[in-house]
Amino acid sequence: MKVAFQVEGSTDLIVLPILVRRILNIDIVPVHRQRRPGGVNAVFSTLESVAWEYWKSDTRGLVIVIDNDNNIPLHDQSHLPNGVPGCNYCQLSQKLPNLPSRRDLPQFAFAIGVAVESLESWLLFGAQHSGKKREHQPEQIKNNLKQMLYGTCRPDARTCKEICTPIAENVDLLELSRAAPSFSFFRDSVLRLRI
Ligand SMILES: [Zn+2]
Repeated sequence: MKVAFQVEGSTDLIVLPILVRRILNIDIVPVHRQRRPGGVNAVFSTLESVAWEYWKSDTRGLVIVIDNDNNIPLHDQSHLPNGVPGCNYCQLSQKLPNLPSRRDLPQFAFAIGVAVESLESWLLFGAQHSGKKREHQPEQIKNNLKQMLYGTCRPDARTCKEICTPIAENVDLLELSRAAPSFSFFRDSVLRLRI
């Protein structure tokens, strides 16, 4: 099953396909469109064109993930169904284009995630919780996440891959969902890709 990814950076493209594969419990073929890095604004501004592009192919759906980066309010269930202004998750949900159904293919699906405060927060949880022990709420860790995870604020691509891959492969998804509401929303959203 082909799954497209619209994310902020190269580390996301290592970690998120692994997490999506594990959440769905099936093998996926991750695809993404090369574009200049541009963070969250680039994700927002290209979302509609990227969605249409994959809708035309045999891709099952599009996974969109951004970092929250200390934005408030944080998303919670009370925001649904109408959305709350200023919430990144609600804003992203409202940006999703209404795509028509496709002949001979299931309805194109979207999964969205707003990592609080960033993808590193989810990974740090995995790095710190190899067993059942829980010491920190990952969403309370806001500063120096890269430093804590990689030992440097500017990790190179190889370091990112070496550190992130085993964490993404082994983090307890249920424990992470319990500790990080933002991951729990992401997990529920990814499950919409099931056929
Ligand atoms: Zn919200």
